Amino acid sequence: MPKVVECITEMRKVVAEARLAGKTIGFVPTMGALHEGHMTLVREAKKVCDVVVVSIFINPTQFGPNEDFDAYPRTWAEDLNACRSAGVDVVFHPHVHEMYPDNWGTWVTVEDVTDKLCGKSRPIHFRGVATVVTKLLNIVQPDKAFFGQKDAQQVVVLKKMVRDLNMPYEIVMVPIVRDVDGLAKSSRNVYLNSEQRQAALVLYKSLCKAQELCRSGEPDSRKIREAVIACIESVSLAKIDYVEIYSFPDLADIDTLDQDALLAVAVKFGTTRLIDNTILKSNHICGG
Ligand code: AMP
Repeated sequence: MPKVVECITEMRKVVAEARLAGKTIGFVPTMGALHEGHMTLVREAKKVCDVVVVSIFINPTQFGPNEDFDAYPRTWAEDLNACRSAGVDVVFHPHVHEMYPDNWGTWVTVEDVTDKLCGKSRPIHFRGVATVVTKLLNIVQPDKAFFGQKDAQQVVVLKKMVRDLNMPYEIVMVPIVRDVDGLAKSSRNVYLNSEQRQAALVLYKSLCKAQELCRSGEPDSRKIREAVIACIESVSLAKIDYVEIYSFPDLADIDTLDQDALLAVAVKFGTTRLIDNTILKSNHICGG
């Protein structure tokens, strides 16, 4: 069984002991409801680090007032089991009050890359993410921290944050893990009924369409975007929040695909908002 740690002081002690023994630390922050996507991050961490710490913390500060903080799936027993099977060494599972005690009031705000995509639809989201990840990194002090391309903008934000604030942690991005039919694994997929889940397959289909256009040499990002929108709109249950293409990893506006670009989509199926993305490389087949 992994060691379960709930308090910050003990977490620091466990890491300090590992360091003293000359071990490197890999860190995988999660909000629980673990699935294959999370476990792939763990496997990547295990490949290159001696000790792997997974945090399970549903961070209230990254949810807007009308979002799904209360409804977010909580599956502690299954999560612990998954961590055991994957050979996780330590599970950090703090209470909200441990992370945000009374009189707490310091935020980390990352500029520029947070005012678009999910930052536009969820205005306080990245302030909450940057703040909690800063706190977690300061507590665990890993050599490397692993994040999924599934949340590509989050990776961009966090890489900028550690660079701008001179934080000595490497942020590693791990490719998107999908179900066999292409739906990106997400803790929120449990909200979908079977009709919505079927409809949600249009996300991967639309990304594949974009890759196809890209590979056939289409250089105009507007045309690719329009094709993706048309594909998603052909499914009546799908309500687009955004479909955007930006340069990657800078997230700057681009018209022509003469550099790596992130095609990112956010679409609602009923009340469930799903995100997905792919990296477009001109004349290259690429995954994600
Ligand atoms: P979450 O628990 O949703 O906050 O996700 C924790 C970490 O797992 C984040 O770095 C996510 O990007 C990553 N993740 C979630 N779903 C996937 C997926 N399908 N493939 C790869 N990484 C994922």
